[in-house]
Amino acid sequence: MKRENKKLEKHFLSQIENTEKIGFSKEEIKASFLKKLFYNLGRVPQVATENDLYKALALTVRDRAFRQFVRSTAEFAQKDARAVAYLSAEYLPGPHLGKNLLNLEITDETREALKELDLDLDEILREEVEPGLGNGGLGRLASCYMDSMATLGVPAIGYGIRYEFGIFNQNIKNGWQSEETDLWLHYGNPWEVVRPEIAYEIKFGGRTEHWVDENDKYQVEWIPDSELKGTAYDTPILGYQSNGIIMRLWKAEAIESFDFSVYNVGDYYKAVEKKMRSENLTKVLYPNDENLSGKELRLKQQYFFVSCSLQDIIRLQLMQGRKLEDLHKKFTIQLNDTHPSIAVAELMRLLVDEHQMEWVDAWNITKNTFAYTNHTLLPEALERWSVGLLGRLLPRHLEIIYEINNRFLNELKERNYNGEQMARMSLIDESGETSVRMAHLATVGSYKVNGVSALHSGLLKKQVLNDFADLWPEKFTNVTNGVDHRRFLGVSNPRLSELISKKIGKHWLTDLMQLHQLEKFSDDKTFQKKWMEIKLQNKKELAAHMEERTGISVDPKMLFDVHVKRIHEYKRQHLKVLHILSLYKRLKNGDDKNIVPTAFIFGGKAAPGYFMAKLIIKLINSVGDLVNNDEQVKDRLKVVFLPNFNVKQAQVVYPAADLSEQISLAGKEASGTGNMKFALNGALTVGTLDGANVEIREEVGDENFFLFGQSTEEVQKTRAEGYRPYKYYEQNEELREVLDLLISGELSDGDKELFRPLYNNLLQQDPYQLLKDYQSYIDKQEEIHKVWSKPGEWAKKSILNVANIGKFSSDRSIKDYCTTIWKIDPVRVED
Ligand SMILES: *Cc1c(COP(=O)(O)O)cnc(C)c1O
Repeated sequence: MKRENKKLEKHFLSQIENTEKIGFSKEEIKASFLKKLFYNLGRVPQVATENDLYKALALTVRDRAFRQFVRSTAEFAQKDARAVAYLSAEYLPGPHLGKNLLNLEITDETREALKELDLDLDEILREEVEPGLGNGGLGRLASCYMDSMATLGVPAIGYGIRYEFGIFNQNIKNGWQSEETDLWLHYGNPWEVVRPEIAYEIKFGGRTEHWVDENDKYQVEWIPDSELKGTAYDTPILGYQSNGIIMRLWKAEAIESFDFSVYNVGDYYKAVEKKMRSENLTKVLYPNDENLSGKELRLKQQYFFVSCSLQDIIRLQLMQGRKLEDLHKKFTIQLNDTHPSIAVAELMRLLVDEHQMEWVDAWNITKNTFAYTNHTLLPEALERWSVGLLGRLLPRHLEIIYEINNRFLNELKERNYNGEQMARMSLIDESGETSVRMAHLATVGSYKVNGVSALHSGLLKKQVLNDFADLWPEKFTNVTNGVDHRRFLGVSNPRLSELISKKIGKHWLTDLMQLHQLEKFSDDKTFQKKWMEIKLQNKKELAAHMEERTGISVDPKMLFDVHVKRIHEYKRQHLKVLHILSLYKRLKNGDDKNIVPTAFIFGGKAAPGYFMAKLIIKLINSVGDLVNNDEQVKDRLKVVFLPNFNVKQAQVVYPAADLSEQISLAGKEASGTGNMKFALNGALTVGTLDGANVEIREEVGDENFFLFGQSTEEVQKTRAEGYRPYKYYEQNEELREVLDLLISGELSDGDKELFRPLYNNLLQQDPYQLLKDYQSYIDKQEEIHKVWSKPGEWAKKSILNVANIGKFSSDRSIKDYCTTIWKIDPVRVED
């Protein structure tokens, strides 16, 4: 029975609601919950496990989420609205339950309903295992954008990969990181719905055949050597109070019919093996933030999800009775970094080879459909694939890329570009191993290219994509990142949210600029007191959480100085360590003036193959062992490494921070979003002029931001002049003592070699210029400790940070995307 083409209309919803009221009162929630528990899980509350209870509540909430989604979809369909397809290889949604309760505005009702059953909502919330389908900032950004698109009523689908194992769980053993498989699906996933009928075939390998048919039309056929299929798994993502959209993740499976030719000759096991190989494709997320190393499976994953998504978009276009020629009018496809950039070649293939379109027409559609977001300037992170590998896995795509490139280079030739310029801009890098530059493919194939902060977008135009910005200046734009403040303040900091709402009302939930109204209370002593009491409560919660996880106890009255994010040399966790060691030295020498009791809190995962990053984790834990167990300093300094930093932990950490460490070398962090989440929760920032720090400082005011270190220009000048880190070691006595401590054996049970690789790296190359920025950082920290000693002054700065953070809501980012890139009017549906 084919029902797909039936138009979705709103009255469907009333039909459904006549059969069961999907209501929002305490009684209705309680009734639904008990029904789910009994009919879906076969349990009554008395014998249900924590997980049963969590699942029953999740299903109760999911019903209501689907209601919102169906309503939005009906509305979008009726308006024949232009839609965004967001293509991202990573999502980091965090726990769904608490967020969906907030969006449906039923947190209190649910809490009450459960209480009547003698159950505790917070305990149930803790049961949820979050989907770790991303590495860090990039995946989290995609999820913040999903939320804002849903809230604002942007017709959108988020496409991605349903990794069976997400980002590894991090354990700390003897101070070292160890990785454990993430079994997030082990207890089942109540939020997703599988759509077995939405599935597409995906080919790999083989060869192409070219011929001219009887109508004189050039034809190409791709004869693959393997095929598999991708099946859709849908998760509803709710917006606040109204809409809902879908995150559609693809799972790789074997093509249904087993290979019967093999089967018939009796080689059943070979056929089964083939099936298993197919399913491997979406088994695991590559745990690398910022760089990749030419892994074949990674390219397969990228092509797999891109092809499924594009085939799905074409199906949706045709299903609505629209012409394929109008694809770019009804869809815009946002590429989240270069990970999905093979889409440019795949859309060409689908249009030209499968849908018989002329190249010129197909290219016109393609380059008006895609928009590309660049996320990095780090040269080692700019994605490239060797022509050998790409041609072997995707022979037709390599031909298409060469054809796009030929036409592009011809265009340059007509504009009198010289050979050197053309070699620089080519999609193919001929220096060294011949490879495809994915950022160039994405740039040539898109109608807009954006960076993720003002500074980063500027550098993109001046440096990495300079030639392209000269050629197509109107193509380049900026959209500064933002964060989902409903999650990172509304859900994760209920105390502060309540105080804010009491003062200025709840309107900030949909318009973060409303926080400006807090400004007038920044000098109000009673308000300051309440403000800091809430911070203290949050710190107590984090302290308890850390003690449970690490056994280290921390006095919540200490200054909480927090550095959480992926571990990477450019983010300079080791600069923070040098600061801690300098304080340790001073205290040991009896010099304790201007040092306030401080807890240094770290968190973050290192890529499993990144030696230096793993050594930095070991160093942090070694410094912790030294400092935390030293009778003389242990009440003054504490060092904690909180294992397994993820969204769930982030929601406990950001609300409890006093000081936010954003100390990357200027020019290296494209934007950062942790910086925004900290400030949103009233932490003050110590930071360089990097990424969005620049704009945060502009908004909150120089006097409420602790700036240190070189600017991007100064960093480049330092490098150009022949940077010699050793000079700083020689000239700065305290720095020398601190660095020598690394190889003294004091940190490592007498082992003088353990940290020597770090020591040597800093003294010889120091690619991230820690030594150059060291003194400026130390001086700034002294100033910070002075301000902390004046609680009124600190509280005022904290309030002003929150009052002026409105720009960094992802709602603002999505509105920017809508006006400057997507040309979409949000369709907000309200009750
Ligand atoms: C926000 C966030 C990040 C990104 O942090 P940065 O400080 O911007 O690098 C990484 N991981 C998680 C879990 C986050 O919530």
